[in-house]
Amino acid sequence: MVDDLLGNILERVVARNPGEPEFHQAITEVLHTLQPLLERRPEYLDQRIVERVCEPDRQVLFRVVWQDDAGRVQVNRGLRVQFNSALGPYKGGLRFHPSVNLGIIKFLGFEQTFKNALTGLGMGGGKGGSDFDPKGRSDAEVMRFCQAFMTELVRHIGPHTDVPAGDIGVGGREIGYLFGQYKRLTNAYDSGVLTGKGVGWGGALGRTEATGFGAVFFLSHLLASRKRTLDGLTATVSGSGNVATYAVAKLEELGARVVAVSDSSGSVHDPAGIDLALLRQVKEVERARISEYAARRSGSTFLRGARPWAIPCDVALPCATQNELDESDARSLIANGCIAVVEGANMPSTAGAIELLRQAGVAFGPAKAANAGGVATSGLEMQQNASRQQWTFDQTVGRLAEIMQRIHDTCETTADEFGRPGDLLLGANIAGFRQVADAMLAHGVV
Ligand code: NDP
Repeated sequence: MVDDLLGNILERVVARNPGEPEFHQAITEVLHTLQPLLERRPEYLDQRIVERVCEPDRQVLFRVVWQDDAGRVQVNRGLRVQFNSALGPYKGGLRFHPSVNLGIIKFLGFEQTFKNALTGLGMGGGKGGSDFDPKGRSDAEVMRFCQAFMTELVRHIGPHTDVPAGDIGVGGREIGYLFGQYKRLTNAYDSGVLTGKGVGWGGALGRTEATGFGAVFFLSHLLASRKRTLDGLTATVSGSGNVATYAVAKLEELGARVVAVSDSSGSVHDPAGIDLALLRQVKEVERARISEYAARRSGSTFLRGARPWAIPCDVALPCATQNELDESDARSLIANGCIAVVEGANMPSTAGAIELLRQAGVAFGPAKAANAGGVATSGLEMQQNASRQQWTFDQTVGRLAEIMQRIHDTCETTADEFGRPGDLLLGANIAGFRQVADAMLAHGVV
């Protein structure tokens, strides 16, 4: 009965949001795990909470016009989807990547709503971005684009309304330009309007590292519940951006050997273990391609066009983008004896891959729980801004570690509560949804 109702809801959501496969995928994944909760809490169905959480509060699409270094006029599209504010101001990153479209931003905003609920820090869910491609653009071009983007976005955000942050293609440089333009337009130093700021002007120490560190903290708890530690394990990581870099750093600190990283051009296999200093030099300082790492590091090889999942490992952390680990990748991981997959990126594993990993007994840390450390630390940055304080690196990372432990334990106990021990995907979805749904019920029909 509940299953039929959920099926009907899903059909209607897909029909009214055509051509948005990533959004359909994210909604399907969550709705498929809600049945046991809805059987116990029929008021969620009576009050049509499921339909309401699938419909964003607000979607803003806008033109972004700017001039490149040659004086040519460039036209991009900007987006901000304010998905759900039941638990607090909208909060979620901005993605600058040529693949960005409304469906991708909606999937990210939907996921963000439940992820933010799991942090327990009183944040709603939102996401935004643009199809602007920062690759190969000069600093001046990136600045002009960010200024043009903020000239429209400024009308929709604010410390108590909507607080954007970074995501793919948006790091410290972009947040700086966006903040500068916000300040110029509003004549207000609203530190709380963006997170991921520079440490000298309102940013929290530890925010840069937080998502990668948080994912590895989550992985440690996942392994601990199976009486294992990271020490001596071999890891593969995809991506070589913000999340991947600090996942590698924490994995190595905790005694794992990371043998692969990647970017969209291919993977590097480094059997001796990734040299973190070289990785940061190539990717953070020089903004070069990952093949450059292999060119400078003896004993490593560059696998053009390949994902890292065929390289044998004990634990795998997809930290690049959505749908980067499919069924054939899952089969390779299983065949090579991988014991845990933890998602640093958003929705990196396809539904088929997750099912294969589950059947094979591979421990699985779902994105909305495992990568929540970034937004949790953004919440800590907002606390520091509000109290005009700056905590030490160790204070912030200490709080992050506690939050990741709590998120892991919440997922685990929720999975137990609903008779699916070890199913942290179900645990994360139900725990996040329940919190949002209860707040929505309390707020009435709005
Ligand atoms: P970055 O832009 O810093 O790095 C992204 C990395 O992923 C790059 O190595 C990039 O390679 C690679 N990548 C991007 N698109 C593709 C693609 N289509 N195929 C293969 N590789 C790709 O982004 P982040 O590290 O910030 O984000 C990575 C993931 O983590 C995203 O899913 C994001 O939503 C998620 N996330 C990020 C958080 C954060 O705090 N930053 C918080 C929570 C989740 P290339 O340079 O070649 O494009």
